[in-house]
Amino acid sequence: MSGSRIEQHRQAYAYCAYCPKICRFACPVSDAVPSETVSTWGKMTEAHLVTTQKRSLEPGGAKALYACTGCMRCRTYCRHENEVGFALFTARQEAIDRELAPQGARSTVRTFSQFGNPFGVDLSPLVARYRADTPVRFQLFPGCTTLAKRGEVLEAALAVGEALGAPFGVAKSSNRCCGYPLYAAGDLREFERHARATAEALKPYPELVVLDPGCAYTLRVVYPRVGVALQTDVRTIYEVLAERVDHAPSRPPMEETVAYHDACHLGRGLGQYEEPRRLLRAAVKHVREAQEHHGEAGCSGGGGLLPRTMAEASVTIARRQAERAAPDGETVVTACPTSRRMFERAGRRSEDLLTLVRRWINAKDERRR
Ligand code: SF4
Ligand code: SF4
Repeated sequence: MSGSRIEQHRQAYAYCAYCPKICRFACPVSDAVPSETVSTWGKMTEAHLVTTQKRSLEPGGAKALYACTGCMRCRTYCRHENEVGFALFTARQEAIDRELAPQGARSTVRTFSQFGNPFGVDLSPLVARYRADTPVRFQLFPGCTTLAKRGEVLEAALAVGEALGAPFGVAKSSNRCCGYPLYAAGDLREFERHARATAEALKPYPELVVLDPGCAYTLRVVYPRVGVALQTDVRTIYEVLAERVDHAPSRPPMEETVAYHDACHLGRGLGQYEEPRRLLRAAVKHVREAQEHHGEAGCSGGGGLLPRTMAEASVTIARRQAERAAPDGETVVTACPTSRRMFERAGRRSEDLLTLVRRWINAKDERRR
């Protein structure tokens, strides 16, 4: 195995390979799949053995490299703060190059190379539908999952922004995917090329408000890791709205009990734990915290392309996280569109934070009529 990207993770691989599995309990994939091969230790040892030429990559080893959602939960318990997801996603390039990557990863790369996003659709007409007719204070980057699959979340974002004095207009350049699927598939060369082109496309925007925490994390954290510096200041929609929650029309929180799931990219990825909670507590009266929350929060199984490479395990992870977050069957509220989809696939009720806040605002309007 060669290449400077992989070389930069040699120490990370070695830390895990020689570790007495301190974070064994933390990994959602090894919690769902009873095999030492997919434990943090097992996956990183595979990468260590291949990078030190003690073993060549084979189909079983390649599969292990993909058994990671990139949730960063192991990092919370690691003395080295090892960035295991980043290290494993980088090692996946070897599986891509040797045509050993799982089918779900290879098809994602193929679709992306054709359409520039993982959904195989042209996003421009969707962007045009939501563009503002008049100048707005904030340019919004919804992310392709929301654009292609969750129109109601985007509509909620626009309505909540309006109500809180933060009018959004969908940015023309949000017809581009941020590139996370290429990063998670392990095609780091293509990801870097895509990131450079996206940084160029975003140049006209001094500031961008990003709806999907995965996109915000990719733009803010992953781009610099591959040497791409954005000239655009990227903020999450939760930061912007939380700052303005006091501007919402005065109304008591709704008489509901919901559970809150910390999205990995928003929480551990960007350190935003309180911003979504401020919005949630304004909107509903009873918020149940998960057994593990903030930096220790569980994962919904939706990251790292796991739903495409280990579909059954990803749903098991979502089901277990929903049980931990909402043991009495409460609706699981999350700021992550992918997590919401995962909870629904696991047969649980789930709601996007933005649609919930919109319901609260609409409830106020109804009371006034
Ligand atoms: S992430 Fe840290 S704690 Fe976990 S196996 Fe690696 S070195 Fe050990
Ligand atoms: S990043 Fe998450 S899924 Fe990947 S090894 Fe660490 S705990 Fe497991």
